[in-house]
This record gives sequence, C-alpha cells and structure tokens, in this order.
Amino acid sequence: MNRFLARCRELARRPRTRTRQLELESLEDRQLLSTVNGGEWVYPSRITYSFMPDGTDLAGPSNNMNARMSQLGISTATWQAQFQKAAAIWQVVGGYNLVEVSDNGQALGVGAQQGDSNVGDIRIGGYDMQNPSLLGVAFTPPPVTGPGEAGDILMNTGQSWKINNDYDLLSVAIHEFGHALGLGHSGISTAVMYANYLSKKQSLTADDISGIQGVYGAPQDATPTNKSAATALDLTPYINSLSQATYSNGYLTALTNPEWFKVTVPSTTNGTMVVTMQASQLSSLSPRIVVLNGSQQALGLAMNTNYGSTVSFTVNNVQPGQVYYFFASAGVTGPGSNGAFALQVNFGPYSMSPVSPPNTYVPAQASQGGGGASPMTTEEAFSPATPREIRFARWQRQQSRFAQRQGIGHQEVSFQLSDGRYTTAEALVIAPRRRFHRPRFARS
Ligand SMILES: [Zn+2]
Repeated sequence: MNRFLARCRELARRPRTRTRQLELESLEDRQLLSTVNGGEWVYPSRITYSFMPDGTDLAGPSNNMNARMSQLGISTATWQAQFQKAAAIWQVVGGYNLVEVSDNGQALGVGAQQGDSNVGDIRIGGYDMQNPSLLGVAFTPPPVTGPGEAGDILMNTGQSWKINNDYDLLSVAIHEFGHALGLGHSGISTAVMYANYLSKKQSLTADDISGIQGVYGAPQDATPTNKSAATALDLTPYINSLSQATYSNGYLTALTNPEWFKVTVPSTTNGTMVVTMQASQLSSLSPRIVVLNGSQQALGLAMNTNYGSTVSFTVNNVQPGQVYYFFASAGVTGPGSNGAFALQVNFGPYSMSPVSPPNTYVPAQASQGGGGASPMTTEEAFSPATPREIRFARWQRQQSRFAQRQGIGHQEVSFQLSDGRYTTAEALVIAPRRRFHRPRFARS
C-alpha cells in the first residue's frame, strides 16, 4: 500500500514538473523584448527608399556600394534585390507602404525629412567604415533625426558581403530597415533586431513583428466588405466623361484576403476595356488581377512578381451594359503579398496616367533627439577639429530589465555632415559583447 501511495504521489508530481518545464520554455519564447528607437515616419502611407548612386557624398567619404559589390561578384540587381525584399518583408507585417524611388545623388543629409522628390526617405548606400566590427548603420527616423538623413542606411563596404551566407546582405538589410522604420534593438538573440550578427536571419520573429506593430499597427483593410463577387465594390460610379474609372484606395492586407471589384460597361465605350492594377509608386505589392465576365467565369489574368509593379489586362469587344468582375490579389506569397494599389478601367480611346502617390512632404527640421538614440552623448565625444571624419563610438543605453541583465545596449556611430552638423546612427556589430545563453536555473 505504501508503494501504491508513493507511486500515486510520483504520478501526481510528474505532470506538475513537466508543466513547469513547458511554462519556462514558452515564457522564454513569448517574451517580447523588442524596443523602439523613438522615431516614426509622419506619413506611413508611403515611406520611400532609394539607392544612392556611387559617388554620393556621405559627409566625407563617397558611396561605393556598386563598385564594392561588383568587386565581390554581386551584380547591382542582386544586391539591390536584397533591400527590395527586406522592404517587402517589413511591409507584410506593418501598417505602412514601402516604395522604391529614384535617387539623384544629392549629399547625405540634404533635402526634406520625408517626401523629397529627388531621393527616397530611406536612402541606401555604403562606404568602407575602416572598422571590421561594423556591418551597417541606420539613422533614426523622424523626429529623433529631423533632417534629410533620417532613416538612411549605410553599409560597411569594407566587409566581404555575401548572398545567403555570412555576412548575409539580406539579413543586415532587414535589420537596418527595422531601425529605419523605428525599431531599436531587441533583447532576443533570434530576433532580426538583435544588436549583433549571430547568423543569417532572413525572416522576422514574433518579437520583431510585435515591435513594429507597436509603432504602426498591423496592415488594415480599408474595404473589408468586398470579399466576394456578391459584395464586389462597384466602380461604375467612378466612370468619367472620358469613359475612364480610377479607384485610388485599394489595399490588400494579405494574399488570403483578396479584393473584389465590378463594373458595368458604359454606353460610351469604344469596345475595349483595359483594366490596370497599379502598385508602382504606391507599395511593394506584387499585383495580380483576374478579370471575370458577368457569369463570373475567368477571362484571364495579369500578374507581376516584382515588388511594386503594375499590370494590365485587356478585354476586346465589350458591349454596353455588360458586367465584369475583377479579383485583385497578389502574385506571390510572403514578401510582396500586401500593400496599397490603384485600379483603373479604361473604356475610352485615351490612355490613362498612373495614379499619383499621396503627398508625404515634410520639410527638414532640427533633430528632436530622445527615444533610443539621443545624439548628444556622442556629439560630445568628438572633436570639431576633425570635421567630416567618421568615427565609431560605443555607447550603451539600457533598454529593459532583461537587456540590463544581459548587458545589451546600443552601438552608435557619430557622423559629422558636410554642413557641420553631427548626427547619429545605430550600428549592427559583429561580435556579441557578452555570451548570451547561460544557465539561468540551477539544478537541484
Ligand atoms: Zn542595429
């Protein structure tokens, strides 16, 4: 009997023990240790990025990304694709659109805070930082950094960059885009926003996602009702005197959440219907549109897997009074599967101009500092006698109790720009300053 009781007690104890172990593990997994750097773009509806041409003045050194990548055997299209993908990866999880635009090569720090017509809000370039522990830096977004360099990303071209191998360009591009959008470093070593490069990380963790959604929210469906042909959004009222309809406010939250539209052919048609789905200049969405007849039979589709592209589908011999349906979604899963788009339907003889992007202009202003990257400390660390010299400062800023325990802090780089101003950026460094994993519970 005593043995039976002892066995009962043992069994009763076992699940508790196991439960406790499970709780410990899941607690660790679910700890959200992302931080923000205090910056946030004024107009998240359209945050642009651009690639600075080689030779762009980076406050002293010149941008040499293309030359260096070419030296490493990485074509322009390939290295830029890493940043395009990084942007699309972030767009999937947050309430903003990321759009590639051109760059006229004006000096770093010149121009508007957001919506400058000459360059992207987030400009991407690089130079040899003469510091083997540095991979890349990103300027904090507004209002922490007020002038044109806000959100800009500089890579250390002194590194031997690789595609899909250490040091993986995509992994660092994702990390720096995270800073450029407003995230600080995370205390979780598996997070993309962890301060050190431990291994390649090509996707976001729950911690990264929670962090960015804390700043911008999740992607929001502007038109949650048009999820079937029966509830399709009718574009007929949008048809103007040129027999053209434009719907500017399309937004696809996810591939699994398509948008339905319909239109009735006007009496003024010239017999041709051209349907255009535009993501160019609006988002990183890879558009895909299916055109169906009034019986909801598919007539065909147009799609493009490039981020932020535009596609068209033409139907000939349309008759006034006929109804057509449009099923708008994405041509890819994952990055590129969400974002803003516009829809245009043309029944007339004149071509249609693309939909203009929203106005996001914010003039340059003084840096407000604060947040996770106060520029003051590092400014004082540098002598004005060395203008335009770029130096590395190691500066710790504790971010959470966990981070304090682990000794994780910011690594900052100070820049003096051509106009004499000092400005700071967060850096991704290679070597962990402290061993991260250590036993936290002694065995009894
Ligand atoms: Zn960083």
